[in-house]
Amino acid sequence: MKKITDGVYQDDDGAMHIHIEEMLDAAGYADTPENRETMMRAAIEGLRATWPHVAITVDEEPAITRVARFECPRCGYQCDAFGTTRGEAGAPEPGCVAGCMACGLPMVFDTDPLTGMLRLRTMTPADAENLSAGQVRELARIQQFAPTWTPTQRRRH
Ligand SMILES: [Zn+2]
Repeated sequence: MKKITDGVYQDDDGAMHIHIEEMLDAAGYADTPENRETMMRAAIEGLRATWPHVAITVDEEPAITRVARFECPRCGYQCDAFGTTRGEAGAPEPGCVAGCMACGLPMVFDTDPLTGMLRLRTMTPADAENLSAGQVRELARIQQFAPTWTPTQRRRH
């Protein structure tokens, strides 16, 4: 991992890793939940300003990766955080499947032919043919429960 600044590291895949404790320490702030929250938001905003599409992981939430902002093609829900079903770290790649945290729509990451950027699109029947049993289970769980989650719960999932 390459150190970018205090508390910010870049891994070999180019993804950024934020260590809040180190940032608080370097800035001389007390380690309180409020300061952690403020520092995390500021750090993510700061990184986004320079690297709009880089994947960002916070040390306390290793299973959640923040990517460029995406919008659900059905309900318009905007999100920039994705979690893996097995609780592992990792940024989404083209072909990865995801469920909308607001309406449950099954989606697939692919590459926008115009911009070359990662985007989300609605899952087609052909995509659904290739899902594993685990992916089907997880998407079913999201479809069932996502509409009942509160905004805070959505951020945590
Ligand atoms: Zn949606």
